[in-house]
Amino acid sequence: MTDVEISPTLTNIQAGSLELVGITKSFGSLQVLHGIDLTVERGETVCIIGPSGSGKSTALRCINRLEEPTSGQVFLDGEDMLKANPDELRRRVGMVFQHFNLFPHKTVLENIVLPLRQVNKMSQAEAEDVALARLTEVGLANRASYRPANLSGGQQQRVAIARALAMGPEVMLFDEATSALDPELVKGVLGLMSTLARNGMTMVVVTHEMGFARQAADKVVFMDRGRVVEAGTPDAIFDDPKSERLREFLSQVL
Ligand code: ADP
Ligand code: MG
Repeated sequence: MTDVEISPTLTNIQAGSLELVGITKSFGSLQVLHGIDLTVERGETVCIIGPSGSGKSTALRCINRLEEPTSGQVFLDGEDMLKANPDELRRRVGMVFQHFNLFPHKTVLENIVLPLRQVNKMSQAEAEDVALARLTEVGLANRASYRPANLSGGQQQRVAIARALAMGPEVMLFDEATSALDPELVKGVLGLMSTLARNGMTMVVVTHEMGFARQAADKVVFMDRGRVVEAGTPDAIFDDPKSERLREFLSQVL
């Protein structure tokens, strides 16, 4: 069975703005974030780049409180998310991981239906409608009854994206969403992410795909050792890096 195309138009995008103010995070005596400030306007895509261990994942995880920041604030559409209840946060901030994190014993459809039932309190019928609509958009309606293990990694990641989108998030976070994929599967997932960006989703994307960052990002943020060292347009970051650390990083990855 061949893949159906990703829909160029994604419905029900309800993007919000995101702001991080002075986020710090320590694990015991190890401080890994030293005051991260980040503004993402409604509909913007911000890519975070930087060496391994620089705190990119931790910064992302502080946004939806998979990690509790040690100090600082996170605002979603001006609302203080560190005061929101966890279910509300999970509904409003979608996250896609390197390793998909699908439930292996459930079908593709059930993977999307379950959080809609549990977090969004939808009826079974309503949740199935929403799940199928989202699966159709990512070109996988014909895989609804499959188990994740019977899909390619790229298809599994598109299911994970459909699952996150089904919740109606205002912001989507991606943590190296294509790093675990075989090279030939990367393009389809990046294509879906570009489509999502073009359709006005607010996105924060941690990525090693410099081509994607250049093409899809409104702003690129370079992190090193728990700090934002440089931030700017893709052209400014890639063609005119100011700091020695960014120049060195780019010379290694480009
Ligand atoms: P990146 O995503 O840029 O590779 P991370 O945010 O994963 O960086 O990690 C930043 C630093 O925080 C690393 O030194 C890492 O070892 C440390 N770290 C991350 N998570 C934990 C944790 N749960 N406990 C202790 N140290 C952690
Ligand atoms: Mg990481």
